[in-house]
Amino acid sequence: MNIRDENVLRELNLYPLWVRRDAPAAEALEPSAPVAETQAVCRLGGGEADTQQSAMGIVALNPSYVSSLDWNELKEKVHACTACKLRAGCTQTVFGVGDESAEWLFVGEGPGADEDAQGEPFVGQAGKLLDNMRAAIKLKRGNNVYIANIVKCRPPNNRTPEEDEIATCVPYLQQQIALIKPKLIVALGKTAATSLLGREATLGSLRGSVHDFHGTPLIVTYHPAYLLRSPAEKAKAWQDLCFAVQRMSE
Ligand code: URA
Repeated sequence: MNIRDENVLRELNLYPLWVRRDAPAAEALEPSAPVAETQAVCRLGGGEADTQQSAMGIVALNPSYVSSLDWNELKEKVHACTACKLRAGCTQTVFGVGDESAEWLFVGEGPGADEDAQGEPFVGQAGKLLDNMRAAIKLKRGNNVYIANIVKCRPPNNRTPEEDEIATCVPYLQQQIALIKPKLIVALGKTAATSLLGREATLGSLRGSVHDFHGTPLIVTYHPAYLLRSPAEKAKAWQDLCFAVQRMSE
């Protein structure tokens, strides 16, 4: 393991690692157990199928005024959007960033102050942690990864987006998903998860299962901003990432 990997796992509160002597592959990672729940063995690029549970997303299908748009048209549409009250209070829309044919799509809640200033999702403190989380599973920003949010405009004082704002904005994300065609969506936090799945549920009840977003598998983990406030939960986020890697390798 190189210094960078060590730093990533340290940041996730999962260092040092203990690898069983009889571990079949050198890259089998068994995190030491900072909390009792950390049992996950993450094998990058391999692994057995796990029990899966499907739940149909019930978000309305993309309205036709968005579903026919290509990337450029969609970007223009979002840029010019004033369809909800959020646009009046933000600096600029934050469309999304990354590989437009990525296999991995990470979805957050909405831009914060840094994202509003820079026009790019997850560039603040939470974004740095998300970068580290992705690095831990060997994914770099822009390389086979796309990052977007449920709402494209910063809610005032970083409040949770309201139902009507989500309903107005989510068709843009749906069309991003239709264009990207990711193999897996990782919903970061409860707002992203429940907005995409179209039903109320606790984050805890949604973790550890593969859900369905109109035919695309979706898994749920903690929002990095929550992990910054509750670092002990990083171990569970690591479990979720391992679960995602396993699902991806099936
Ligand atoms: N939090 C989010 O949900 N999205 C961002 O882009 C930044 C912080």
